[in-house]
Amino acid sequence: MSTLHEAAVEMVEKQLRRRGIRDQRVLNAMLIIAREEFVATQDRDNAYADAPLPIGYGQTITQPYMTALMAESLALQGPEKVLDVGTGSGYHAAVLGALARQVVSIERIPELVEQARANLARAGLDTNIIVVCGDGSLGYPPESPYDAISVAAASPWTPPALLVQLRDPGTLVIPVGGRDDQDLRVVRKENGKITTRVASGCRFVPLVGREGWTDE
Ligand code: SAM
Repeated sequence: MSTLHEAAVEMVEKQLRRRGIRDQRVLNAMLIIAREEFVATQDRDNAYADAPLPIGYGQTITQPYMTALMAESLALQGPEKVLDVGTGSGYHAAVLGALARQVVSIERIPELVEQARANLARAGLDTNIIVVCGDGSLGYPPESPYDAISVAAASPWTPPALLVQLRDPGTLVIPVGGRDDQDLRVVRKENGKITTRVASGCRFVPLVGREGWTDE
């Protein structure tokens, strides 16, 4: 049986690098961050699997490739302040925290907020990440503007509040589409103009909130 570190090395090589993830900082972050601290105890041996895993409350920790693709799409250099919508386990926030100066992560389910805070503290990765409870479809105005925004739940559209709270220049990544499948959109704000490209197809749990889906 391989060790968890060997599983992490294999994940980076086979799931990320071979599928086209090139940002060395993203690859390093995902090699180093102990993903097993962010999954349920019974899933620790499976922590580096090529799939989403259940984290309770009907939610999932995102597939590693999708986390890497989203992080790479933001092209973070280090000094940024990032809003992470849909904290879940806290793993994606931890990856963003390794790539940026500060991360504000927002989650609507209070129990997951507590769980993510505990996961981040246990992994020793809570120094530049704050986790707040609330409706992230409205962003988090008190800490705005953000150089980058990452949304890890699917929305029927790009919530206008997020575009308002995105700095110019700034980049936002969000799954947009129907409830069953979506496009991963990379939205760039620059010189007052908004441009959008599609990075991939994807399948996320719904963004439930005032500017997302109104029912679960
Ligand atoms: N990024 C997470 C990780 O690494 O574990 C996984 C995110 S999971 C796919 C999506 C999360 O978004 C769920 O925890 C869900 O409760 C949360 N969510 C859904 N709608 C939300 C909203 N309006 N505001 C904040 N969080 C929301």
